[in-house]
Amino acid sequence: MTDINNPIHKIFYPESIAIVGASNNPESLSWKLLDNIISYGFRGRLFPVNPKSPSVHSIKSYKSLTEIPDEIDHAILMVPKDFVLDTIDDCHKKKINAVTVITAGFKETGGEGAELEKKLIEKINKYKIRLVGPNCMGVINTNPEIRMNGTFVLGTPERGGIGFVSQSGALGAAVLKTLQQNDTGLAQFISIGNKADISGNSIIEYWASNPEIKVITVYLESFANPRMFMELNRQVTKIKPVVVIKSARTAAGMKAASSHTGALAGSDTVVDAFLEQSGVIRVNRIDELFDIAKAFDKAAIPAGNRVGILTNAGGPAILAVDECAKAGLLVPELSEETKLKLREIAPKEASVGNPVDILPPASGELYAKAMDIMFEDHNIDTLIVILGPPLVTNTIDLAKSICVAMKNTTKTGMVVLMSQDDIITKLRQEEEDHPPLYPFPENAVRAVEKMLYYNRWKLAEAGKYVEFDVKKNTVKKILSKYKDKENTYLNFDDVEAVLEAYGLPLIKSVNAYSTRETIEAAKSVGYPVVLKAMGSKLVHKSDIGGVITNIHNKGELLRACGQIFENLKQRGAIKQFEYFLVQHFAAGGVETIMGISKDKSAGHLIMFGLGGIFVEVFKDVKFRLLPINDKEASDMVKGIRSYKMLTGVRGKKAVNIPYIEENLLRLSQLANDFPQFTEIDLNPFIFTPDKEECFILDARMKVN
Ligand code: ADP
Ligand code: MG
Repeated sequence: MTDINNPIHKIFYPESIAIVGASNNPESLSWKLLDNIISYGFRGRLFPVNPKSPSVHSIKSYKSLTEIPDEIDHAILMVPKDFVLDTIDDCHKKKINAVTVITAGFKETGGEGAELEKKLIEKINKYKIRLVGPNCMGVINTNPEIRMNGTFVLGTPERGGIGFVSQSGALGAAVLKTLQQNDTGLAQFISIGNKADISGNSIIEYWASNPEIKVITVYLESFANPRMFMELNRQVTKIKPVVVIKSARTAAGMKAASSHTGALAGSDTVVDAFLEQSGVIRVNRIDELFDIAKAFDKAAIPAGNRVGILTNAGGPAILAVDECAKAGLLVPELSEETKLKLREIAPKEASVGNPVDILPPASGELYAKAMDIMFEDHNIDTLIVILGPPLVTNTIDLAKSICVAMKNTTKTGMVVLMSQDDIITKLRQEEEDHPPLYPFPENAVRAVEKMLYYNRWKLAEAGKYVEFDVKKNTVKKILSKYKDKENTYLNFDDVEAVLEAYGLPLIKSVNAYSTRETIEAAKSVGYPVVLKAMGSKLVHKSDIGGVITNIHNKGELLRACGQIFENLKQRGAIKQFEYFLVQHFAAGGVETIMGISKDKSAGHLIMFGLGGIFVEVFKDVKFRLLPINDKEASDMVKGIRSYKMLTGVRGKKAVNIPYIEENLLRLSQLANDFPQFTEIDLNPFIFTPDKEECFILDARMKVN
């Protein structure tokens, strides 16, 4: 198993525990914690420490840690905060290197508390002690040979294969309670509080190699290091599923952004991005977290997306079918053989299509037979068995027969017990080894969906990091001109040169420094053309009437020059005008946006989405942390809501999607080679079916 010298292992599997600050006041948290350890039946030795009382909770207690004659594996500190540092000294003297600090009043209170936490960290680093907390709720291990409920929460969880790490103590407590009512079994629980030392990552890493943990569940409020989380979980999720409830925001957020990419890269989007890249399953609600976790714990991962439904009530089955459709799961026809066999056993009025409805009086025996038949059907990967609201009193026997019949298969099986919470609790006692139980069909279907999502991720080949042949030195030279300037836009000539160096296709553009020069420029780019007012301070050109498109001849061109001057004068922007940019006019194609932004805690992000002037309205964009591999580039493109716009709607041909991906990878390489880029917007970036007709029409780059 896991390394016994690992302090984290000792925290979960101690042979001896000391509770420092154990109190005889039954109202206190420390008494409650001690009480929980005793009543849950801890299999090791327990040593309360209380300087004033010779016994606590009827157990001999010690004046200090150092007085305890035995070795201590895990010390749980509940002393007042001003005594925590001294107690850590005692831990060191006693050669304890695994400590949990329940005591609050540290960083979460700011000021002095934060100072105290700093000192605590210094001390444990010096002593090489690993620490959970402070300001946490403790740990649980339901392993029958350990039986440790080292928390002060009411009630004890059932045994199962779920590991749950929670940053919030209060939430952890609420969850533990729900789990009991909800047929969800825990292997281990830990509340990590302020994460002064042991973080969510440390626990995830430890559980990855702990065979008792089948599925890791995570509630985090902050990610100290998003990149590390991503890199760790990419590996862990190849071994076992990690389900994360997403409430977290990154700490710092962006520099005030003037680009679309920057404006869209809210901290929420950043969290979305790196969680998606981590391969974890994201959920938005606690109940969903455990619906999915218990599926992984108690059911096999489906081999495919075909679902069979067996029910004794029509309504719930329809709900299940609808939810399957939403989740991209099939509810296929059953084979003729299956239907014949079902006909033989089911009542006349029963329906033997899929869903199979064996009607309300169905007995446990009938359910079991029907299940055997359906599981044998090669068209089915998962069977969801629904037991409608009870009409009879023997539901528990019915449910039991269903659970027993589930054992005859290696396929995925789930049971829906509609409005029968009491049965769920009873069933667990009578039939410990049972499939996942759900109160509604939708919960079961969504769990199947997420299991399939996980399996696709697990089996997918790792993406490749592609490197293009680019002119890195050219960009290096250009950027050296900006090295002393803070937060500065590159001038457009430099933008052009950078794009060129990395093979990013800017539409043919020529500068014109007078109205007369626009005529030559238009000839060289070819009519129809677009005329743009340029200047280092003109950031959003069309907002001030600085862009005129679809110009067909010299006459229109000269009028457009006059019009632009007029517009700029009216908006008081004429002083910022420096020259005209004449571009070839790109007709047709889909306007997309690509960009780079920089988050203080997560680093560089790349964005792709539907572009043009409505980009900030529809917010149909995907972010990823840099650098991206070819698979991630492809996921980004497929991941936007309006992906269909790219594959062709209303008889339109699909745009060149591989070329979109190539350009994303080139942009990723650029920002990865030159982290001094803080913002890049390529908007619009037009894509058509023909690679030669795909162009960047406008670009902005900011450095430092
Ligand atoms: P800005 O973003 O500064 O307002 P753009 O250069 O992006 O200015 O131009 C505004 C809009 O004009 C673009 O979103 C695009 O719809 C259109 N446009 C710009 N350049 C071209 C071009 N070369 N061909 C066709 N349409 C263009
Ligand atoms: Mg633009």
